[in-house]
Amino acid sequence: MNITDHFSPNCHARSSRVDSLVLHYTDMLSADAAMGLLCDPKAKVSAHYLIDKKGKVFRLVEEDKVAYHAGVSHWRGKEGLNESSIGIEIDNYGHSFGPEAFPQVQIESLVEVLSDIRSRHSIKDTHIIAHSDIAPLRKKDPGELFPWAYLHQKGHGIWVQPKEQDLKSSSFGMASGAMLKNTQKLLKKIGYDVPENGLLDDKTEAVITAFQRHFLPMNVTGELDFATERHVQRVAEKF
Ligand SMILES: [Zn+2]
Repeated sequence: MNITDHFSPNCHARSSRVDSLVLHYTDMLSADAAMGLLCDPKAKVSAHYLIDKKGKVFRLVEEDKVAYHAGVSHWRGKEGLNESSIGIEIDNYGHSFGPEAFPQVQIESLVEVLSDIRSRHSIKDTHIIAHSDIAPLRKKDPGELFPWAYLHQKGHGIWVQPKEQDLKSSSFGMASGAMLKNTQKLLKKIGYDVPENGLLDDKTEAVITAFQRHFLPMNVTGELDFATERHVQRVAEKF
């Protein structure tokens, strides 16, 4: 595939094996602006790839180097995902300037980039994740408009089709106790860093929101309603 090199100084040599792919949106007004930031030595941020809205792919950091895209993060028992992941920035207005749908041509390029990367590294579907999955208290990207279902259809990542009938059912409201504790346990099984205390504390609410953004994007409430509780069970079976 056609990739344009535009290297960032923000990287260092990699010593861990690559086992995860982290997807981001840029949350900026243009790919040029994002490129400026991701290559600014003072900003100390970067990603391996940037995909603009026309589907053009830029390589900012070589895959054998660590890029600075994940920050403080956790997934499936591992901390600090920069060391073992490849980060892809997708040009999008994000929650700051959007909402903005992702153009199909951009997603087709992403699918190609993912196939390309996975031909070189052993990366499981359970390890193709959102920035919000690994840093739920800090991050929302790539957001609830990101087409995880389509990506799954193309062979990348986990997706379980939400059930319409669950979404129509009434909310439990503020769930607590045993049910919440069980949901926390399942969210942990999926990979989230979440307490197992049966309480809807800030961290648990952030993780429920992150789960919804990724797996139940038509229902991003931060609440453990009936549809979310059921869907956590179904998704956890795939992990
Ligand atoms: Zn991000």
